[in-house]
Amino acid sequence: QKFVYDFTEGNKDLKDLLGGKGANLAEMTNLGLPVPPGFTITTEACKVYLESGTEPAAMRDEVTAHLEALEAGMGKKLGQADNPLLVSVRSGAKFSMPGMMDTVLNIGLSDESVGGLADQAGDERFAWDSYRRLIQMFGKTVLGVDGDLFEEALEEAKQAKGVATDVELDAADLRTLVGEFKQIVAKETGRDFPQDPREQMDLAIRAVFDSWNGERAKLYRRQERIPGDLGTAVNICSMVFGNLGPDSGTGVAFTRDPASGHQGVYGDYLQNAQGEDVVAGIRNTMPLAELERIDKASYDQLMQIMETLETHYKDLCDIEFTIERGKLWMLQTRVGKRTAGAAFRIATQLVDQGLIDEAEALQRVTGAQLAQLMFPRFDEKAKTELLGRGIAASPGAAVGRAVFDSYTAVKWSRSGEKVILIRRETNPDDLNGMIAAEGILTSRGGKTSHAAVVARGMGKTCVCGAEELEVDTKQRKMTAPGGIVIEEGDVVSIDGSSGKVYLGEVPVVPSPVVEYFEGRMHAGADDADELVQAVHRIMAYADRMRRLRVRANADNAEDAARARRFGAQGIGLCRTEHMFLGERREMVERLILADHDEEREEALGALLPLQKADFVELFEAMDGLPVTVRLLDPPLHEFLPDITDLSVRVALAEARHEPHENDLRLLQAVHKLHEQNPMLGLRGVRLGLVIPGLFAMQVRAIAEAAAERRNAKGDPRAEIMIPLVGTVQELEIVREEAERVIAEVEQASGTRLGLTLGTMIELPRAALTAGQIAEAAQFFSFGTNDLTQTVWGFSRDDVEASFFTAYLEKGIFGVSPFETIDKDGVGSLVRAAAEAGRATRPDLKLGVCGEHGGDPESVHFFHEVGLDYVSCSPFRIPVARLEAGRAAA
Ligand code: PEP
Ligand code: MG
Repeated sequence: QKFVYDFTEGNKDLKDLLGGKGANLAEMTNLGLPVPPGFTITTEACKVYLESGTEPAAMRDEVTAHLEALEAGMGKKLGQADNPLLVSVRSGAKFSMPGMMDTVLNIGLSDESVGGLADQAGDERFAWDSYRRLIQMFGKTVLGVDGDLFEEALEEAKQAKGVATDVELDAADLRTLVGEFKQIVAKETGRDFPQDPREQMDLAIRAVFDSWNGERAKLYRRQERIPGDLGTAVNICSMVFGNLGPDSGTGVAFTRDPASGHQGVYGDYLQNAQGEDVVAGIRNTMPLAELERIDKASYDQLMQIMETLETHYKDLCDIEFTIERGKLWMLQTRVGKRTAGAAFRIATQLVDQGLIDEAEALQRVTGAQLAQLMFPRFDEKAKTELLGRGIAASPGAAVGRAVFDSYTAVKWSRSGEKVILIRRETNPDDLNGMIAAEGILTSRGGKTSHAAVVARGMGKTCVCGAEELEVDTKQRKMTAPGGIVIEEGDVVSIDGSSGKVYLGEVPVVPSPVVEYFEGRMHAGADDADELVQAVHRIMAYADRMRRLRVRANADNAEDAARARRFGAQGIGLCRTEHMFLGERREMVERLILADHDEEREEALGALLPLQKADFVELFEAMDGLPVTVRLLDPPLHEFLPDITDLSVRVALAEARHEPHENDLRLLQAVHKLHEQNPMLGLRGVRLGLVIPGLFAMQVRAIAEAAAERRNAKGDPRAEIMIPLVGTVQELEIVREEAERVIAEVEQASGTRLGLTLGTMIELPRAALTAGQIAEAAQFFSFGTNDLTQTVWGFSRDDVEASFFTAYLEKGIFGVSPFETIDKDGVGSLVRAAAEAGRATRPDLKLGVCGEHGGDPESVHFFHEVGLDYVSCSPFRIPVARLEAGRAAA
């Protein structure tokens, strides 16, 4: 096994092994772009280290060999006294985790080689400043010294000299400071700052490995659902310097605007600075376009490289570069993060440019991005009070109370407040607060600052670099031009699409994408905006590509009609209990209270025409498409008054000697129906088996409604579904009764109704005996809500509020199994049941109607196990269509 790869040996497809940064450095090297030479230690080495606590034995020799080759190529040795080679040691995992892991620059500097660097650069101040930075970074990240100690010493040095900025310290000052920094290291760690360059490098490599399991990194991975066992690669790269004077500098660039997708020159440049200064958003940058004025040759070369990269990667790339005394160096590139809207636009633009095909375009967008585009935005017509304007860093409309630190953001959001986190700039320590906040506002930093990059990654609204807003985190306030002061707790609204910041709550309006799906805006129209056009086209690609059909969970004609507009191909779940609410609840009450047949039949007789009318409407709204009607499922007590309320009412009436016959009867019924575990009690098919006539009434309503639609020349396609079946015998009994009723209706109406009868698979026993159950069922619909509940033994109504947070924090799962299907457990039952069912009945129709039907990751799983359709709430239909397309592409 090989643990170290030279940049010339790797390529962009080796991200698992070399991490994203290493793989792309190799790719650029092989494209002939100016990358400072170096090599990458693999994630495999990191994994060995994390598991065993030591580097793999072979790694050290390989590092030595690669270092020697690097030294030979550069004509200087690491830390060589008169002409030192310096390297950076950078983390780089498979997935980008901006600012979450460690990096150490200027490795190779020591008391001896600092003089060599000064000669090399012809700049003594620069050399001592670099050495000072090394001890500071190394001390903090590798040796674990409190970073504030260095900052304080630096501050004191400035004060002693009576200057405000670092740049005003001269070589002698920095030399003194280096002495102080070394003392801090010695005092805090009990050892001297290592003078041996190789030891520096080895310790830095270890520190990068260790940073994979740092708290910040772990939190970020959970949030982003990045697996915890991937490990990070380590890139050893020869140093180039952007801080060697005005003809040097460092910057970041995008090949297109990551907010809109438009082509052009986007990026930030910082003259006479090192890379970390830009990313940390510490100093204000200038727009990249200004580089043309400062250094036209480098600018032109950069533009050319950007074009090469975009054509090569066939996607938006982001880039970090450094100019050292007029020579351009590429430090990093990757396929760049972008906003949801830009993702759709860029995908279609690339199709138009002939760079990618439709299938590839589908891989460039996600259902989560589409969902984001369906969020409401601020009403343009609303009267607003503008506080200021910053950079539109991550789109969305966020309203909340101003908070100025991460701790308060978390605390307030836990108690249900919506908050906007306001900072001068963010750093990785603000991550918790950023997660808790509705949106993030900073007064400093560009589109590539920490706040912007992380917020975009999280899909969180962000406005950054709002310089006219003066943020004072100590006093917990922000001052806008004109003197308006926002204190902690005041409401502000931020628009991540325009960069505008408003006082108070601005009303929101629906997104244009929703308007388009609703049919209120046409993609073909001349004025349709680019985004809607792009969504329209991508949806068409997805619909052409997908095998899974997409249905809606809908119980009334209005939802059904919307679902249809959103592209539903039928109803996968009509929960009939939703038709028993409101005024009809009392009729159900009468059914429950009935203590002889006549009374019960009367109650059922009253319900029948109402049910039938509901179904007629529903079948009409879904004419020509399948409608799966599920017979009554929930425990009956849900239709009765609350036991405590009722007891009080009865007691009061008794005390007042008022008549309370009816309430007393009700109370007795409530007591009789009371169950300790109603979710495992009298519900689903069990209701149909113990309440005579209930299911027959519902089947009759369905059949008569279908007959009526047939007679009206409609095309009803009803499917009758039995819930909570555990054994085929239950289903057989219900089936016989249903067939009898259907035959009666067909006879009476003189029509063939073509009704099918199937079952939900939502109990482990049903899944385990699916082969038998398929003998009595024409279709299965997986009820993954109840199936998850019963497979895990998690009460679906309680767990999220009780212990799920603890489970998520401990990493037991990265996402609730009620949100994304648990593939290993619940999923394997689904897979097995689907197979067993089809073995019995090859034409068995298979679908899913639990909440997972609209969850992107779960949709891919259902595609893979061969289901015929997913069914989800109307609003999630576009997402399900898109993901079904992506799964098949
Ligand atoms: C299910 O259990 O997944 C389901 C769709 O039924 P309900 O949510 O109504 O229990
Ligand atoms: Mg269920």
